[in-house]
Amino acid sequence: MGAKKRLSLHWKILIGMLLGLMVGVLAVRLDMGRWVQDWIKPFGKIFINMLKLIAMPLIIASLIKGVSDLQDIAKLSKMGLRTIVLYIFTTVTAVSLGLVLVNTIRPGTGISETTRHNLLSRYAGDATLRIEAAKKQRARGPLQPLVDIVPDNFFHAASSNRNMLQVIFFAVFFGIGLILIPPEKAQVLKDFFDGLNEVILKLVDLIMLTAPFGVFALLAGLVVDAPSVELFKALLSYSVVVVLGLAVLVVFFYPTLVRLFTGRSPGFFFKGIGPAQLLAFSTSSSAATLPVTMERVEEHLGVDDEVAGFVLPIGATINMDGTSLYQAVAAVFIAQVMGIHLGLSEQLGIIATATLASIGSAAVPGAGMVMLVIVLNAAGIPEAGLALIFAVDRPLDMMRTVANVTGDATVSMLVAKSVGKLGRPKVKEWDDFIE
Ligand code: ASP
Repeated sequence: MGAKKRLSLHWKILIGMLLGLMVGVLAVRLDMGRWVQDWIKPFGKIFINMLKLIAMPLIIASLIKGVSDLQDIAKLSKMGLRTIVLYIFTTVTAVSLGLVLVNTIRPGTGISETTRHNLLSRYAGDATLRIEAAKKQRARGPLQPLVDIVPDNFFHAASSNRNMLQVIFFAVFFGIGLILIPPEKAQVLKDFFDGLNEVILKLVDLIMLTAPFGVFALLAGLVVDAPSVELFKALLSYSVVVVLGLAVLVVFFYPTLVRLFTGRSPGFFFKGIGPAQLLAFSTSSSAATLPVTMERVEEHLGVDDEVAGFVLPIGATINMDGTSLYQAVAAVFIAQVMGIHLGLSEQLGIIATATLASIGSAAVPGAGMVMLVIVLNAAGIPEAGLALIFAVDRPLDMMRTVANVTGDATVSMLVAKSVGKLGRPKVKEWDDFIE
């Protein structure tokens, strides 16, 4: 009836991002950076806080509901196994791709002695902070990460977003308990978590109404805090290799997997996941993006709630393809700049350590860089080399988070298809793309 077609969400977010960039650049030019920090940046922080606020309850509600809906333990282990295998497969592919690119393009050979010196001295302090953080991780024994997954107090675990894996553990465990008790006794709790899940997904919708403003504030704030353009230029070839690798993952690898295994077109996939990708870019955090990823995957990509509720929270915390690719490229780049030769065995070692390090990286801004220290150590590359790549870490973090989130969404579609739980999206865009 001639109704006006509304601008879709991803366009609104993109416009918000562009305006944020423009305002940021203008503020730097007019020397008004401080004003942006005081009056615009806080709104970005509020936006991220809102997303983080609902991440924990969402994980609890969706996982308990997801697991208990499966109705038997065999189904849960089948889905769990497929999820883990696919996550490892995508991560190893990403690291290998990064290694091929960095060894072919060799960005480290073009860095002059002066640039090397400048970067090393300028960012030595920042690098030391990351190295200290990584040391704390390492000093705790090889099985400590496993021990860390099992909380000794639920409320303590749920009180910090850093403990997501602990909460996931509890929620799966609780869900298993629900499967095992008589259905009539489980029903009341299932209904409760079902309702809670619905409420939180509705909150995601509400928060997303403010997303264009949120990303505007985030990007304006980032631009005024960014280091000088000169440093970006010096690290251009390294950044290009990372971005190229991430682009291959996002534009080619994931859509191809989706097409091959589910028959859904790249257009359908990107339209569905687009807003989550833009948020991942703006927030640099898979954890903060998780509520939106869940909403998009369930309502726009047709993944059943019980699969999305299980696969995505786990993916946000352990599956980081973009991060692992970046860690591989960064490690070899630093070695190249420092004139260290890495043989085949060291490079194979990087595949293993970058895979593990990305699993151990928290889903928050900059976490990938802390865990990079472990990759450097294992390959015998000096940790101080971290200072070389510091200047461009934030923009690369924004892009690797996009790959991380897209990888999670892809795996959720593949797992859903494999267990017969990929259906029609709940929203109308479907008809434009059905084949
Ligand atoms: N920011 C990334 C994420 O949250 C992790 C990282 O690579 O630093 O997915």
